Amino acid sequence: MQPSTRAYLDHAATTPMDSEVLQAMLPYLTDHFGNPSSIHASGRKARAAVEDARRLIASLLHTHPASIVFCSGGTEANNWALRSAVLHGQIKQVVSSPLEHHAVLYTLQDLQNQGLISLKMLPVDRYGRPLLEECIYILKSSNQLPTLVSVMHANNEVGTLIDLHKWGEACKQYGAWFHSDTVQTLGQFPFHLDQSPLDMAVASAHKFYGPKGVGFAYYNRALPLRHLHTGGGQERGLRPGTENIPAIVGMAKALEIAQNRAEQNAQHLATLKKECIAMLNQHFSGWTQMGDPQNSLPSILNIGLQTPLSQELFLFKLDLQGIDVSGGSACSSGANEGSHVLKALGADPNRNYCRISFGKMNTLEHISLLKQALSHIMEA
Ligand code: PLP
Repeated sequence: MQPSTRAYLDHAATTPMDSEVLQAMLPYLTDHFGNPSSIHASGRKARAAVEDARRLIASLLHTHPASIVFCSGGTEANNWALRSAVLHGQIKQVVSSPLEHHAVLYTLQDLQNQGLISLKMLPVDRYGRPLLEECIYILKSSNQLPTLVSVMHANNEVGTLIDLHKWGEACKQYGAWFHSDTVQTLGQFPFHLDQSPLDMAVASAHKFYGPKGVGFAYYNRALPLRHLHTGGGQERGLRPGTENIPAIVGMAKALEIAQNRAEQNAQHLATLKKECIAMLNQHFSGWTQMGDPQNSLPSILNIGLQTPLSQELFLFKLDLQGIDVSGGSACSSGANEGSHVLKALGADPNRNYCRISFGKMNTLEHISLLKQALSHIMEA
């Protein structure tokens, strides 16, 4: 039987755009189409929109507008921060973790393959948290080698959080730069960037109910970072190319909404996660949770279930039952390599895993739909 409603439970992949965000963007998709680099009135209107958005974002995150560099999203922001630190900041060693998003992992591997850095990968605990004491050991024995530490704030597959403050303090103590992939948290949590120990952080608007294809990098203005591409002088020469005005305006609006309701949203997500866990405990004995059950994002719940199905079929059946979730398997053969995160965390190849990620529009009814879908699959 086909369900009457679908449940979108994949907000870590992307979120639907808020209607208020669309309203804020519309004038810049229609009437105010000027190029911000033009000096006439239309251009000045567009320039004002970009700089107002930058000021709003900076004030919401407690930093200086000049610390915000607009770009196309989390992937580009991570690339810019890491590559610029190596190419222009003379970083020679990077300490990171094997559970980073590919935007960071592949960028660091590429820099290593080019012979530009020595890359040290930290061991992780069973919840997917890199070991800070190992990082400190590496920093202590680095003998003045210019080093950058890159560890993600929250893992996008299992939700495990790290303590940015502790990591940042360690970096400061040993003179290392500190970068964190904050794509899953910037927007969800309040940030006081200038008081934080972060030298570089990143954001992607489509993770906080803004448009896709736009984001920004935050950077400590004392660092000698420069552009990766050549072209015009936009973004104070740090990221050339005509700005995507509607998207930048929409991102600022989305961040404003997200920050104003951060606490309320977090509570709602925590309730949904708790109810979902209670539902799984009641109806699906033997299910397992990947990631830290305590200190993790309220929006992400990664579960393992024992079914006779392949991972592909499991997700396909969930989809047929009206449930949108992401997969991730421990399998590493063939074209579909599976999840590097679940694999590193020792996921059982005989289980099916799915990442349920809640959003502010989800209700208990969606958990009920998930229960029905899982029951249907398990009983079939
Ligand atoms: N980093 C993390 C942790 C992510 O979850 C994502 C997106 O899934 C990215 C980076 C890439 O962001 P974008 O989609 O904006 O390129």
